[in-house]
Amino acid sequence: MSGDAGKVYLVGAGPGDPELITVKGLRLLREADVVLHDRLLNDELLRDLRAEIIDVGKAPGRHKLSQEEINELLIKKAREGKIVVRLKGGDPYLFGRGGEEALALREAGIPFEVVPGVTSAIAAPALAGIPVTHRGVSTAFTVVTGHEEPGKEKELDWHALARLGGTLVVLMGVGRIRENTTMLIDGGLSPQTPAALIERGSWPDQRCVRGTLGDIAERASSFRVKSPAVLIVGDVVNLEKHLGRRRIAILRAEGQLDGSVRLAERYGFIPVAAPSISLRALDLPPDIKEKIERVDCVVFTSSNGVDIISRSGLLDLIQKKRVAAIGPKTARALTDKGVNVDVIPDEYSSAGLVEALRGIRKVLLLRSAQGSPALLDGLLSAGAEVEDVPVYEVTGSGDERLDDLIRRAELIDVFAFTSGSTARYLMRRAGELGMEDHLRKALDSALVVAIGPPTASVLRELGVRVDLIPERYTFEGMLEAARKEIGVRP
Ligand code: SAH
Repeated sequence: MSGDAGKVYLVGAGPGDPELITVKGLRLLREADVVLHDRLLNDELLRDLRAEIIDVGKAPGRHKLSQEEINELLIKKAREGKIVVRLKGGDPYLFGRGGEEALALREAGIPFEVVPGVTSAIAAPALAGIPVTHRGVSTAFTVVTGHEEPGKEKELDWHALARLGGTLVVLMGVGRIRENTTMLIDGGLSPQTPAALIERGSWPDQRCVRGTLGDIAERASSFRVKSPAVLIVGDVVNLEKHLGRRRIAILRAEGQLDGSVRLAERYGFIPVAAPSISLRALDLPPDIKEKIERVDCVVFTSSNGVDIISRSGLLDLIQKKRVAAIGPKTARALTDKGVNVDVIPDEYSSAGLVEALRGIRKVLLLRSAQGSPALLDGLLSAGAEVEDVPVYEVTGSGDERLDDLIRRAELIDVFAFTSGSTARYLMRRAGELGMEDHLRKALDSALVVAIGPPTASVLRELGVRVDLIPERYTFEGMLEAARKEIGVRP
């Protein structure tokens, strides 16, 4: 070839998460004239490239380009003087036919280079909390394919694999999982050997189904595990209990979502943000200023109320009064806006507030239109004069993320209910989607956490079992309690 011949880079794209490509791989993608990619690839990697992009992926049964044709296309593009990136899932040389492409290029005299990638064989288990080796547990791992072309000259000896010891990782393992696990048991591996399937490792909908060698095939079909998935067999699977991250559904309104997501991440969860409610500011009564002036104490029961009131410019007036906040987060919202908080109850609840406000004569509540009657009733029977002014109302969010959550509710390990209305609107939306049974099943097998007793009683009214109410009635308290509970779960 002449000096202006192109070059082909066989680049590993990693298991799916676009951030799991190598720095070199990403640079080459950006520099390439042509990119040939497979089916499993994340589109995000292909966005904003200057290159011509060709999908050579083969959907099962629906071959787009044969291996021959792919090889020819690589050679043709390189001969046109182009820089070609052949992007392959995971690592190009692990069951990716990268070696074959390299040989074809070699034969044709085309310069090429391999850029290794993060392989799903190691990354998918890792991201599910399963190290393929672990000191004292397993000092070797073997990677095999579960799906061999029939009539291959050298067939895999599954009985021998059963005697190898160490960890066994099976790629392309879903289709023949029953046959393969049976052969391993026949070969002498105990049916009690821990096993797990990791589906779509590193994708947002990654899923890990755990079981034993004896029941994993059954579980794969009842959970409808689909390719791509990695089967991993061995005692290292037990580490998933300790190292696996759990998904927590956060159903709060938009304004509180970001902070909650960050906090959940800090506690080691994978947050799934799915606001089930949204808040609508209400018109305040025309005499709101007089109302404020007339009372001894102004009470806020959520940071939402604080935000809305601050927008109406009333905080200056309010800060001349005694100010009560139901809990630390509400208090924080006030102090952030320069308002001094005089009262925070010991218990962050309506009952706690009633206790803390005992003896105060005139009280103004600035809160949700759907606020708990317990606060009003409690204050009245303690002899206070109470003005209850609704500053916002709660409605269904209509958010797409909530619909996604409901459709994939079985992926959620922890449901965090921060108010009765988050529960009500979640259920209502599931009903509208015709997926109430599906959601109930998911709630049944997940950990259900309520922020406090009133939220728990709404959940019970809705027929949802409540597993946990934290000691402190805050979102952080919920995270702490959930982490403790899950850490000790078998
Ligand atoms: N070269 C690739 C493997 C190609 S074979 C690599 O190194 O990862 C295709 C098989 O890889 C699939 O059948 C599945 O077993 C596995 N696989 C690929 N991506 C995966 C992912 N994100 N999660 C789980 N398994 C995956």
